[in-house]
Amino acid sequence: MQANENYQQTQRLIEQELNLPSPPAIAVQILNAVRKDEAALAELGAIIAADPSLTAQMLKVANSGIFACNGNITSIQRAMSILGTNTIKNIALSFVIATELGGNEHTSLDCDNFWRRSVTTAVSAELLAKTVQFQTDDIFVTALLQDIGMMVISLTKGEEYNSLLKDARTVAADLLQLEKEKYGFDHQQVGYALLMDWNLPESISEPILYHHQPQNAHETYRKSAEIIYYAEQLSAIYTDVGGAETARLLQRELVEQFSIEETQAAKLLDDVATRSSEILETFELEPGEMKPYSVLLQEANSELGKLNLSNEQMILEMQEAKEKAERLAHELQDANTRLKELVYRDGLTGLYNHRYFQESLANELARASRYHSSVSLILFDIDFFKKVNDTHGHPAGDLVLMNIARAVTSAVRPCDIVSRYGGEEFAVVLPETSAAGTKVFAARLRRCVEGIATLVNGQLIYVTVSAGAATFDQSNTKITKSDLIETADRGLYRSKQNGRNQVTVLEPELSID
Ligand code: GH3
Ligand code: MG
Ligand code: MG
Repeated sequence: MQANENYQQTQRLIEQELNLPSPPAIAVQILNAVRKDEAALAELGAIIAADPSLTAQMLKVANSGIFACNGNITSIQRAMSILGTNTIKNIALSFVIATELGGNEHTSLDCDNFWRRSVTTAVSAELLAKTVQFQTDDIFVTALLQDIGMMVISLTKGEEYNSLLKDARTVAADLLQLEKEKYGFDHQQVGYALLMDWNLPESISEPILYHHQPQNAHETYRKSAEIIYYAEQLSAIYTDVGGAETARLLQRELVEQFSIEETQAAKLLDDVATRSSEILETFELEPGEMKPYSVLLQEANSELGKLNLSNEQMILEMQEAKEKAERLAHELQDANTRLKELVYRDGLTGLYNHRYFQESLANELARASRYHSSVSLILFDIDFFKKVNDTHGHPAGDLVLMNIARAVTSAVRPCDIVSRYGGEEFAVVLPETSAAGTKVFAARLRRCVEGIATLVNGQLIYVTVSAGAATFDQSNTKITKSDLIETADRGLYRSKQNGRNQVTVLEPELSID
């Protein structure tokens, strides 16, 4: 099939460059026996039976299930009649070749690893062929030997080939390309050359020649080449880095490539793991850990679950942090409000302080000016307060101040602003209040204070106040805040002068700048 110039050149190059190992004697016997059609059955049986360890291995594999029998095969003869001569021949060949080349001390390859991969590939190929209902007797041995070329190259090239393999792995370069560049041939061609040399049939060697490019294989062997191509990937899941994600991708590819059900592909992936473990043991190879696909998936899902859980946890923690931040912001706002209150309040009486009085009067004046309304101011001062302190003590004076503050606060409207102007002097700002209204209210205030009794040491203390008031209204819109204060203060002074305990309302006068 490849008897062209090109092929012969490659063949010559391979023979020149590499020492092709001679075929295991027993393999030659097996092949010869099968080639002679008559009595082949008996002869093949006899050859295998002559080797007790081969017989034992053969029976194990025959009973293992991958060759579609349910155990109970107790002799090679029976195995051959149930499984067919060809299958038995191929199983025998597989063992013979693997055993012969298996522990070759001249190779630099990791032999155990190589054969573990090869046997798993063989099992994968057998199972895949069954799944896609591809009839063949040769697929197991073909898949087993697909990379035999690598073994042969390593026998001659040793470490040099090893580092080339490492390069192919680490820089993900194309192995075939690297081999071709270095030697002028690749391991597919070497495998083919070896198996031709050993007189193995083309049904085995031809798919091996194209196992990396099944599309280039001759139609007759294309399906086999395809199967061993995918078998190698199936095997890689369990013998290489693999993992659930690789398995999932391969499952999808198998479904598309071979038009099989997803469940069939999943079962195939699982079976590769369980069957390979069994068969590897019969090849006396350590199966290592081969977790079936479904287990890998389960583990991946539970990892995903954990990941989701920690995601939920994270959201929860973020929510908690957000709530905490909001709570803190709230507390801060409250604290600020309290602080503002402190800044604007008088400590003894709880009334607004002088600063607040000044601000609020300015605001109310601005508003009255804007809305063409009025605002009034009353200033009042306790009469002879010094005497209260002197007679009853300073704490008694404090009590009097507090009582007056409370009484005045409850006497005013909610919109009125009562402040401690300083010492024993108070201010009341009355928005939207005319001069006449102010006069009435100031008089009421005076009477109110007059009636307050403060009990000190069993003695009732009464005080009076003198007040002065002034109003801003539309009759004189030029009046400023200080004009208003000054006028009210003048009124207060006049009340004092006129005998105290009275109210004086004055017309504000414009200040002369
Ligand atoms: P007048 O009628 O002229 O206003 O006489 P007066 O004694 O009330 O006025 P004066 O300005 O001479 O005295 C005010 C007194 O008020 C002096 C001061 O000790 C007292 N005083 C000011 N603030 C407080 C305070 O917070 N507590 C107490 N107990 N006394 C205060
Ligand atoms: Mg006073
Ligand atoms: Mg005073």
